[in-house]
Amino acid sequence: MIVTILIVLAALVLVVQACIGLGFFISCMWEKEKRATLFAGLQCFGMLCVLIAFLYLVRIDFFETDTGLAILIIGFFLGAVVAFLFLRRTAPNKKALEGTKGLIVGDVRRFDERDQVFARNRTLRPGSEQYRAYYQEHPEHEAFDAKRRKKGGPIGDLGIIDRPHSAANASATLASLSMSLYLSTPEKVSPQAHVQLQGTQVNLSPEEATERVKGYARYLGADLVGITEINPLWLYSHRGEIFHENWEDWGKEIRLSHTYAVVCAEEMSFEMVGSAPHTPTTIESMKNYAKGAVIADQLAAFIANLGYSATANFLRHYDAMLVPLAVDAGLGECGRLGYVMTKEFGPRGRLSAVTTDLPLVVDKPIDIGVEDFCTICKKCAVCCPSRSIPLDDQQEINGTLRWKLHDETCFDYWGNIGTDCNICMRVCPWSHARALPHKLIMEIITRNKLARRLFNVMDDIFYGKKPQPKPTAPLWASFHSWEKR
Ligand code: SF4
Ligand code: SF4
Repeated sequence: MIVTILIVLAALVLVVQACIGLGFFISCMWEKEKRATLFAGLQCFGMLCVLIAFLYLVRIDFFETDTGLAILIIGFFLGAVVAFLFLRRTAPNKKALEGTKGLIVGDVRRFDERDQVFARNRTLRPGSEQYRAYYQEHPEHEAFDAKRRKKGGPIGDLGIIDRPHSAANASATLASLSMSLYLSTPEKVSPQAHVQLQGTQVNLSPEEATERVKGYARYLGADLVGITEINPLWLYSHRGEIFHENWEDWGKEIRLSHTYAVVCAEEMSFEMVGSAPHTPTTIESMKNYAKGAVIADQLAAFIANLGYSATANFLRHYDAMLVPLAVDAGLGECGRLGYVMTKEFGPRGRLSAVTTDLPLVVDKPIDIGVEDFCTICKKCAVCCPSRSIPLDDQQEINGTLRWKLHDETCFDYWGNIGTDCNICMRVCPWSHARALPHKLIMEIITRNKLARRLFNVMDDIFYGKKPQPKPTAPLWASFHSWEKR
């Protein structure tokens, strides 16, 4: 009787394993990952062979013999040990559970938006008063900025990497980019209540307000929503980005009376990012910045209509740095590449936010094992063509212990290729499409240290140490000759 139960259990385990193997094989084909498909196929074949061999042994009553029974029991014992080692929740990273507070090791100076590479490139016009004032104070940036400016705007001469077939994709990119600009006028970013509702303040408990705000954000298209109390350290100290000729704001100290930030993350399409660094990935970036702009603007208007103050933060208006806010709002942890890594789609997301004085219930920061995984992984750093992502351990940067992306070399590379690159995002093992096998893997690696080590090696085996762009972009976003498709 006991032998029969053990045999049935073992058969079930092997069938489930083979099904997961088959699912992984199918998902690799769907991901258009040739190498992973080959290895997944071999793995699946191996699992099927084990299952067939097991069924054969059952048929010849091998497990009724003493040797067979011993093998069965040892197999179960080893299986249980392996399952315990890889599935148990290992000790949490207490630093991660503190959010960005866990990173602080010294004095943190608020970051001046004027020092950002985008603001320098976009805003400072040679010959202008701001240009003179800035480089007088920061002569160390002038030579780099002058050279970079010649390569064109933030993404350089758009689409150079895909010439001569870049025109359609450059048009789609600019179409998405335009949306954030349209939505960034001060009256839209910090809206007043609608005339019908002015003068009223809706009385909501923090719990109800949170439910309604999060629900509306999700309804508008946010894939993830979290709320945090704003740590003033993550507010920019001074305004550096000027988009509407509002030059009087340049260099103005940023003061914010809002207590809370509602942070939203929008998932970028796996198919479009798969082509990185080619133009489809930039269409996707801009589309999600546009989506973030719509969500943040409408959410801010909703809160304003409730009778509270709110400001939308998105590609064309930031009062705060959104990555630390997202970490504190429990959306994920910051990875080696400088993006927020979420359990749901890794670094393949874009952020937007609304700051407000509407009382809300905050979320807690989370530990999903990113720091541990990134310490051993380094794939983004190895694959970064401009060597902008550090290969070494976290270092103290402005009072915080973390990995720091070298923004100038990254930005310079964008100028060379005419896209926002995103190679680091594409190659990250956390970026795989969340088909069922990858969802299972994420469940395991977010809770277990040993599994992180195993799946880090497996990712290199299945996807390669330096994965290449995939032909996943849809036909309409083709960057090859149309006739050859
Ligand atoms: S976007 Fe490209 S250049 Fe910049 S850090 Fe990522 S891989 Fe490197
Ligand atoms: S590629 Fe590896 S090291 Fe880089 S962010 Fe992703 S998991 Fe971390």
